[in-house]
Amino acid sequence: MGSFQSPRGTRDILSPEVSYWQWVEATARTQFAQAAYREVRTPIFEETALFARGIGEATDVVGKEMYTFPDRKDRSLTLRPENTAGVVRACIQHSLVAPGNLQRLWYCGPMFRYERAQEGRQRQFHQLGAEVLGSADPRADAEVIALATDLLQRLGLSNLTMALNSVGDGRDRQAYRHALVEFLTPYHNDLDPDSQDRLSRNPLRILDSKDLRTQAIVADAPSILDHLSPDSKSFFDRVQQSLTDLGIAFTLNSRLVRGLDYYTHTAFEIQSSDLGAQATVCGGGRYDGLVEQLGGPSTPAVGWAMGLERLMILLQRLQEPPAMALDFYLVSRGAAAEAQALQLAQQLRRQDFAVELDLSGSAFGKQFKRAARSGAAACLVLGDAEAEAQTVQLKWLTSGEQLSLTQVELLEDVEGLRSRLALAAAALATSA
Ligand code: ATP
Ligand code: MG
Repeated sequence: MGSFQSPRGTRDILSPEVSYWQWVEATARTQFAQAAYREVRTPIFEETALFARGIGEATDVVGKEMYTFPDRKDRSLTLRPENTAGVVRACIQHSLVAPGNLQRLWYCGPMFRYERAQEGRQRQFHQLGAEVLGSADPRADAEVIALATDLLQRLGLSNLTMALNSVGDGRDRQAYRHALVEFLTPYHNDLDPDSQDRLSRNPLRILDSKDLRTQAIVADAPSILDHLSPDSKSFFDRVQQSLTDLGIAFTLNSRLVRGLDYYTHTAFEIQSSDLGAQATVCGGGRYDGLVEQLGGPSTPAVGWAMGLERLMILLQRLQEPPAMALDFYLVSRGAAAEAQALQLAQQLRRQDFAVELDLSGSAFGKQFKRAARSGAAACLVLGDAEAEAQTVQLKWLTSGEQLSLTQVELLEDVEGLRSRLALAAAALATSA
């Protein structure tokens, strides 16, 4: 072991795990393209004040979890703990939000929170997220939620449940907050210390306290669903109807809330019972007040963020890593053969074949063993005799069939090779 280790709460993502990441990213990219969402890449760090205003001073994220530091000119910067604030900042800065404008966006990248590191909870972690800015239509809520559930389904995850709630609009929440504080105040001394603190600052957050005694008290608390105005209720009904039309299952959970004023209407979480305490894979909802809160024009918006580490934990339990697709493993020995092999590998790659070149210079037997383990469909062999005659031995690793041909013939028969490779891949798939 060397003298350095990755910092606490960070991880190196190595092969074969990285294959899952590439697969998830590729699947997400395809799916977002099919729904006309555009990717947005924002900076990893932002002005600290953006998060204080965009996430809220009263949240754990801003209060306890941010990586904040002064730069050399003493500006306070923060490594992004999430990306909605950054995306909204970018949309305002580049005038992408304006009346009548609809933005469908997605992002993927690392986020940073100073937390107690454990399985599924890290200090550098990754989120995939979607945001729709500019639509107040409940179908937008249904569309973004459907993208999350479809993605999880395409990845083969089925053992998931979705909890859904509405927190109404600002006025509904004010009425509800009042009722909640009235209900909880007599129990003040029985609440856990965090919740006592929240009673005045951010009472809705008490609803998702992990403290058992607080949970028991909260179980009888009034429900936000009883405080929705007719308009908010109708909006929520339409979201639910759209989800039902799409065949997306959900359960109502009136204790699922986001405590801050710019969160409105829809709130949802997708959970897996296979993740222990870190059960939530994806969380999101509507935030009609955020764009304005950050200095932009009043703009309705809805989105979600998915935790990729938790997703990978589920995927790795479920299936083998996707294999690296390799067409040829190139074996060579002897100075002239090695020189030709280097060029042949490069020429094949230019024709879009995936080629691994053995650089070991070891005996053919050892190189063949590596070829067999490489997952390649075929092995190409160059020795002294082949180098002399400018030929190559082509051995199909699936069937064992072997033939000799000139290097020129090999490079000219691209179509033939491709159909043989497809056959070999099919044979591999049925034998696996
Ligand atoms: P939790 O209650 O688990 O702390 P959260 O409410 O802080 O989650 P969000 O801010 O809603 O989480 O982030 C969305 C998703 O990002 C979470 O559901 C989770 O999958 C993932 N996530 C959040 N924090 C971490 C972390 N520290 N490590 C790994 N994944 C995380
Ligand atoms: Mg958290």
